[in-house]
Amino acid sequence: MDDALAQDGVLRYELLVLYLRQLLSGRDYAIVNPIAGQMANFAYLVGDKDNGECYVVDPAWDPRGLIQIAEEDGMKVVGGIATHCHPDHVGGNMMGFPIQGVAELVELAKVKVWVHEEDAAELRRGTGLKPEDLCIVRGGDTLPVGDQTFEFIHTPGHTPGGLCLLVGNGVITGDTLFVGACGRVDLPGADPRKMFESLTVTLRALPDDLVVYPGHDYGRTPKSTIGAETRHNPFMQPDADAGGTFLE
Ligand SMILES: [Zn+2]
Repeated sequence: MDDALAQDGVLRYELLVLYLRQLLSGRDYAIVNPIAGQMANFAYLVGDKDNGECYVVDPAWDPRGLIQIAEEDGMKVVGGIATHCHPDHVGGNMMGFPIQGVAELVELAKVKVWVHEEDAAELRRGTGLKPEDLCIVRGGDTLPVGDQTFEFIHTPGHTPGGLCLLVGNGVITGDTLFVGACGRVDLPGADPRKMFESLTVTLRALPDDLVVYPGHDYGRTPKSTIGAETRHNPFMQPDADAGGTFLE
């Protein structure tokens, strides 16, 4: 891959300025927390390598550790992004277990948290954040970071305000799309019909070569591509039986 990049100055330039770290709970952060390890959450640091600013996507379990990883890379955390409102992604209370997350990130890094308008109330209820701690977004909104511009895609279904985030040549998909699977649609706030549309219309329309960065390490590989998922993921087939299983 390095050879290919060396032959293509534009691509090499893009990859050099985009800062993107995929971090696994229990392995890369929250290392001493066995529940974090079992949950296999991915958090992401995304930003602009040149100006040194980044966002933490889904900073649950160990916000201090995630900030530290960014700092060790010479990056400053300038915000948090919630793909959705569940405690294993943003902190709060999960079946009686307190989980650190966006509230501690706001406190430690003095930043705000970006969340879709339809998940904002639930995020506040679960984490105790105040309205002034949040930046409310809708699908199509963009987030500039240095020379980078990220874009929010509204993908409801797992929760009403589920977000995917376009970053460079990748898309962070939260619990909407996993490698070979998708998020649950049987929890409060879930909507199987909207999930089916998010997967088979909204995400299917993205470019095949876009890299998929999921919210959990549940697949055969930690990441994939839109092309591979549209071919092999049963939940992305618009006319397959998998569609029926959503709607039962
Ligand atoms: Zn979730």
